[in-house]
Amino acid sequence: MKIVVLPGDGIGPETMAVTVDVLEAVSRRFGLRLELDHDVTGHESLKRHGATVTQSLLQKVKAADGLMLGPTATYEFKDESKGEINPSKFFRKELDLYANIRPARTYPGLPNKVGAFDLVVVRENTEGFYADRNIASGGSEMLITKDVVVSLRRITRECCERIARSAFELAMTRGKHVSIVHKANVLRIGDGMFIDMCQAVAREFPEVRVDDFIVDAMMAHVVRAPERYDVIVTTNMFGDILSDLTAELSGSLGLGGSLNAGRDHAMGQAQHGSAPDIAGRDVANPFSLVLSAGQLLGWHGQRKGLPDFLRAAQAIEEATVAAIAAGDCTRDVGGKLGTAATGRAFVQRLLA
Ligand code: ATP
Repeated sequence: MKIVVLPGDGIGPETMAVTVDVLEAVSRRFGLRLELDHDVTGHESLKRHGATVTQSLLQKVKAADGLMLGPTATYEFKDESKGEINPSKFFRKELDLYANIRPARTYPGLPNKVGAFDLVVVRENTEGFYADRNIASGGSEMLITKDVVVSLRRITRECCERIARSAFELAMTRGKHVSIVHKANVLRIGDGMFIDMCQAVAREFPEVRVDDFIVDAMMAHVVRAPERYDVIVTTNMFGDILSDLTAELSGSLGLGGSLNAGRDHAMGQAQHGSAPDIAGRDVANPFSLVLSAGQLLGWHGQRKGLPDFLRAAQAIEEATVAAIAAGDCTRDVGGKLGTAATGRAFVQRLLA
């Protein structure tokens, strides 16, 4: 498996260094023969190539079997004509990575704000309210007069259908329960179509229990009783917000793994951003990116029918559970170690 590795900005280089060590460790332990191709994105690419991402990088990623993207300083990239392209948007759009799979679970030994739970948010990743990517050319957010802005939301039958299918297929491997999250009381046509398509796909999965919730009420439900949920399927922006909440409820935003998957490509990417407030201080939690790398290996293993990759993905999740229980982790999740030491302890645990 060839994986392109892009460390990114802020805490990206520190957390990606740990992730690379972890990938090399599981490659040795499970005989995966991973080939890591190191390149740059974000500010480093802007400095070297005049753009945060380049067409030649895209071609390289298309030819590879997977991509690991570190967090990038998206907030600082404002002008595409100056090469300031949001790398996350770029790869999601160019590779049609329509399913954003964001698991959130509690860990034994890690105090969390609610009871134990284990759920996955399945977020549509290519349309919705994301005005910088929901049309073929240009942006769909317009300044109508200097005081009036219109932002368009795109919902298509095809995108609803394929994200629903991802959710139901995932639910079949877990607790066989899908919760549809929407705002159909206000966005009657768009979210009405989203619910209809989810229900249509649901008929192909009669074993799966289905319910639906309005997004604002869902925020209260997941805080009150997150253990009631298994797979939550929702549109782009609702999923973005809801999954940060569920990651934080699990103990820390620094624990939220995230896979962006399409038909032919996938990208592991931490759920959090570049966290400039803690960059370069050896305090960032690397587990979000490490868990995302595990998800990428699992995706490849499932797609190609390679049990060793599935075992490697499982080993990464189990090592995370064990590391947190032993306190071999960063301060945000109750440990005393820095980022690099957390990585060294993790690799030792994997190879023990
Ligand atoms: P960006 O502009 O790139 O989105 P941000 O700081 O606005 O960056 P996040 O990076 O998501 O947004 O960070 C939100 C908060 O969570 C920050 O206070 C940050 O320090 C903390 N945080 C994010 N990621 C981690 C991590 N891996 N480990 C520890 N704390 C983190």
